[in-house]
Amino acid sequence: MQAVRDELAARRKIQVNNAAARFIPVFLIGIVGYVTWVVAVLISVHFYLDPSQGSARNGAGITILVLHFLLLAFLALNYFRLFHVLFTNNGFVPHRGQKPSSKSEANLETQTYHRSCAPTATARQSEGPDHGKTFLDFASILDGTKPPPPGTEEFYSRDIFVCDAQGLPIWCPTCANWKPDRTHHCSDVGRCVRKLDHFCPWVGGVVSETNFKFFIQFNLFAAIFSTYVLIVCAYSFADNKRLHHPTNTFWVVALGLSAFFAFFTFGMFLNSTHLAMKNLTTVEAIDKRHRTYFLAIALSRQPEESLSSTTTPSQVQTITYPLFPKSSTNSSPENNEKNMESTRSQSKTFAIIQTSPGDNPWDLGPYENFKNVMGDRWWDWLLPLRYSPLCDHKSSISEFPFGPVVDSLKKEYGMIPAGSKVRTRRRRRT
Ligand SMILES: [Zn+2]
Repeated sequence: MQAVRDELAARRKIQVNNAAARFIPVFLIGIVGYVTWVVAVLISVHFYLDPSQGSARNGAGITILVLHFLLLAFLALNYFRLFHVLFTNNGFVPHRGQKPSSKSEANLETQTYHRSCAPTATARQSEGPDHGKTFLDFASILDGTKPPPPGTEEFYSRDIFVCDAQGLPIWCPTCANWKPDRTHHCSDVGRCVRKLDHFCPWVGGVVSETNFKFFIQFNLFAAIFSTYVLIVCAYSFADNKRLHHPTNTFWVVALGLSAFFAFFTFGMFLNSTHLAMKNLTTVEAIDKRHRTYFLAIALSRQPEESLSSTTTPSQVQTITYPLFPKSSTNSSPENNEKNMESTRSQSKTFAIIQTSPGDNPWDLGPYENFKNVMGDRWWDWLLPLRYSPLCDHKSSISEFPFGPVVDSLKKEYGMIPAGSKVRTRRRRRT
């Protein structure tokens, strides 16, 4: 009963967020329309350009108009680019279609969950009711008696990926999919989202790897636009007072709104840029001092030879992919031996290594981190056109480039030949 109640509460939350994501952007566009009416019509045309007002200053009136619409054009371009990305490429991990569609299928697919095999994060998810969730039989998958859900090859085809303590990619029981590196389940929309930052009703959806750059640019231009409106309102307010005209309530409201949004968006811009330079998301920054990651790092064909002689098997656990089939029970011993040989030749062994608490394996240094989000050229930093370079996942090494933390780990475990050049990481302040 509690499970059903929780499921309904989760669905309600998603519905409320969807409604907010539709309403708040319209509200925001209404506010921009209002301040534009105040600045362009009331201040520029009626106050500065109208000779009967006694404050006629054509130069001021025209400059205010031109600058306002120029900044508004940049703001609108950024806002619509954000919407465009939200509707066309929102960073959601696509469902693989293996999620059960009927109750009987669900009963077949839902397996006993083995807490002892679970990574910490997944174990936490499993403590709640399992209504509508798909838990895996990790023990059977690991011993090769049961095939894992499709998609593991996308992880083990690379050289490094984020895994759980047993070396499996992270599983989302709600979406029934493996989570690509740096993916988190967003309970606000009920989906797994690549490099989830946060759910933002102001922009009508989830800020993720695909639109984080455009989100930063939108906040920058919104802060500039709001500050401009604030200055125009304050300037004309002073002129109005000097001429002993009565206080205009519309101007006062525009002044208050622009002050609030200038403060709010500039704060968001600074915070988001800081995260970009640290190569963190808002989610990853939570508890970042204590956060650790398990990484599966590919070894050569003979794992025991590629690990340092000082490293004992008890210190480093390994996992070999593909996990299934380990052997076939339906074929003859000769065929079985052939299959095993073929599997061995295609197999890839990974060391499972845990990072130290607080280490960010993707940290490449502030400037490289910044360029990874904002682009390589300065005009990419200002124009909301190209996607962030980190959206490109074509590398055969890893989904996202790893930094000196991983080099140091490889060196520590003897996975880099002696004499190789290794990027060094700065010591964290304790
Ligand atoms: Zn999910």
